[in-house]
Amino acid sequence: MSKVLRALLASLFALATVLGMSLATATPAAADSCYTWSRTLRSSASGADVRELQVRVAGWAGYGVNMAIDGAFGAQTKTAVTNFQRAYGLGADGVAGPATYAKIYELQDNDCSPLHFAWTEVDGGCGAGGYSGGSVSATIVRENLKRVMWRAEALRHQLGDRPLRVTSGFRSKSCDVSVGGSGSGQHTYGTAMDLTGVSGSPSLCSIAQQARSAGVGGIFGPGYPAHDDHTHIDIRAGRTWSAPRCGVSS
Ligand code: ZN
Repeated sequence: MSKVLRALLASLFALATVLGMSLATATPAAADSCYTWSRTLRSSASGADVRELQVRVAGWAGYGVNMAIDGAFGAQTKTAVTNFQRAYGLGADGVAGPATYAKIYELQDNDCSPLHFAWTEVDGGCGAGGYSGGSVSATIVRENLKRVMWRAEALRHQLGDRPLRVTSGFRSKSCDVSVGGSGSGQHTYGTAMDLTGVSGSPSLCSIAQQARSAGVGGIFGPGYPAHDDHTHIDIRAGRTWSAPRCGVSS
């Protein structure tokens, strides 16, 4: 890209930012104290507000897409926003404005967990609670848990709004070892959740199959060793899927 073009784009972006901020004055106040967007976001936008948007729509990017949470509004983000809008009955234009934010506020609790999942369901296993003793700092564990919970919220909606039970979320290294893990797996990063339905509905296979379209990198379920009583999802990079009895493989 030439210097002139780059300078032109920079000024256009600055202008768009100003326009976005003036539009924001018409945006209703946030419904909670988690996060408030102050401008409309569309393709080519970038920043921390794009990253916060990406966290909440990453479960809607389509089959096999585990989109980057990178603060850059690209094609995957546009697809995710469009699918999110369509799924919740909004005008589907791939642009995040007041109606999209209003729906996110509706789905978002004060503590930034999505409506149907709670921190107490995903904090330290083995009865320990908390977020320490893992493979990364407690702050990073919490950010990772937030990201995987929003994927689970998308998955839940995609499965017809049926409740999903969390059987395990974050585990400290020692907890992970005590339940038969390696002590360094995804649960010790806060990037994983183990899920079941309620009284077998939705089934573990339905969860595993649908998870392929809910923005997750890891899926382990029925037929994979030690995964016949839950379906594991995680947000690792890439794709590692194995639920042989459900026809799910990478
Ligand atoms: Zn697991």
